[in-house]
Amino acid sequence: MSDEPSPAAVWVRGRPLLGTHAGELGAGEPVELRCRGGRIVERRRAGRGPLPGLIGSCETILAPTLTDSHAHLMAAAARRVRFDAGPEAAPELSKLLSLLARMAQASPGEGWLVAAGFDEALIPEQRPPTLREIDATVGQRALRVRHATRHASLFSSAALARIEAAGLGYGLEVVAPGSALFFERQPVLTRLIPGPEGEALMAALRTLAQDWLRGGIAHIDDLTASNDAGRVAFLAQARRRGVLPQSLRAWLGDADEFEGAQRAAQGTLTLAGVKILAHDEATVRAPAFVDAVRRARRRGLPVAIHAAAADVTDAVLDVLEQVPPTSGAGAAPDRIEHAFLCPPALAARLRRAGVWVVVQPGFLEARARKYEHELEPALWPWLQPLRSLGLAGVPLAAGSDAPVGPGGAAVGLRGAITRGPRDGRSVFGPAEVLAPAVALELWARPFASSRRVDGNLGEPRPGDVADMALLERLPSAVNGFEFEAPTVILGGRVLDCGPQPEPAHESPRPFC
Ligand SMILES: [Zn+2]
Repeated sequence: MSDEPSPAAVWVRGRPLLGTHAGELGAGEPVELRCRGGRIVERRRAGRGPLPGLIGSCETILAPTLTDSHAHLMAAAARRVRFDAGPEAAPELSKLLSLLARMAQASPGEGWLVAAGFDEALIPEQRPPTLREIDATVGQRALRVRHATRHASLFSSAALARIEAAGLGYGLEVVAPGSALFFERQPVLTRLIPGPEGEALMAALRTLAQDWLRGGIAHIDDLTASNDAGRVAFLAQARRRGVLPQSLRAWLGDADEFEGAQRAAQGTLTLAGVKILAHDEATVRAPAFVDAVRRARRRGLPVAIHAAAADVTDAVLDVLEQVPPTSGAGAAPDRIEHAFLCPPALAARLRRAGVWVVVQPGFLEARARKYEHELEPALWPWLQPLRSLGLAGVPLAAGSDAPVGPGGAAVGLRGAITRGPRDGRSVFGPAEVLAPAVALELWARPFASSRRVDGNLGEPRPGDVADMALLERLPSAVNGFEFEAPTVILGGRVLDCGPQPEPAHESPRPFC
């Protein structure tokens, strides 16, 4: 992408997407914008006549492009070519087992059987299969079904034996005696168990990138903790070949990967910082965690720390106080990823710490059933309390966490606006709902310094970077806040977003 010539000058006609005083989304008066050299160079009231290279019409909505500030690109692409073991494909335990049996039949041989998307909270039995049930289904085959949260997997006995034989059994922790579900905290397992790679993964990434672009997502932060020089090389190749038209910032799993990853990136993407997992307080207090932060500091890199529970986030803030950034003012801020449970005192502390919080409001809809089952109602208002965090002055951005959550911004927007399941019930602390225009800013206000940061949704002005999503209709409650952008302009380049995306749940295909 970077070696392409400067984009041709174009005229764009349309109505800027605006936030009304009531916080709703509306459309302004039609305008014409001339874009040249990657920027908007002229703005005027729209006429009706033809213009050279004109895109859009008086009906077109000119929306800001959106940033997905937390996604896992390669995993989300791999999910498209993997056996889907999620609740749509396997709505109950017996269906899961027969799906796994079919997968074993369809992929004979000795190779790993790999599927993804299972979550016991989303099936009526509310429990994972036992190891005995799994073994009776797949026999001597090595099976891994990655949990929807990506922090656990179902394994067969044959899989566990292979993991032990490879010396990778440490850290595997069964959730209950006899269960097939194990917490596994090592991205290193991913190296033992192959996923789709090469051209198969590249092809899946191409369709994924098109779907997301059509949903207005033009900037992506990849927060995968296993990101290293090799994975960065793959993503850089995707950028160079135009497979991934979005601008990309990758976070590395370890600061020591930085130099190698920098060479692999070849200027096609930005290395944003270091992603560190903090699953529990003990992990955060351990020397290895503090050391990982320290090594990021030595290179002047910010850290993005996965912390979901309040006590963990609190412990992370202790460490960030203990090992403060060494770089000067203007350096990129540290981030807390998720902070799902956030009582008011913690919100105030986050503000004082000066960290960003990257939220996933899509979970408020997509995991509504799970939260209703697993979380005491007294805690619901503290579940991603977006309004309180905003009022406390904590800088926020939103991400999908795809493939853990649904890709794109529409589900997240609805989650932030409704705070409940798709049926429209506002379950999780109605006082924390955001107005649509405020919610959209979580995606429209980016980290990337090349874009406008004034938070004003509409009114593109001369001098702005020419980044726009051209929508066919106003995102609203009526259309589920769907961004439907057949055309996206990115740095003045006009990108055709291709045909209507395929349904989210493609027919599962085996991949071993
Ligand atoms: Zn994530």
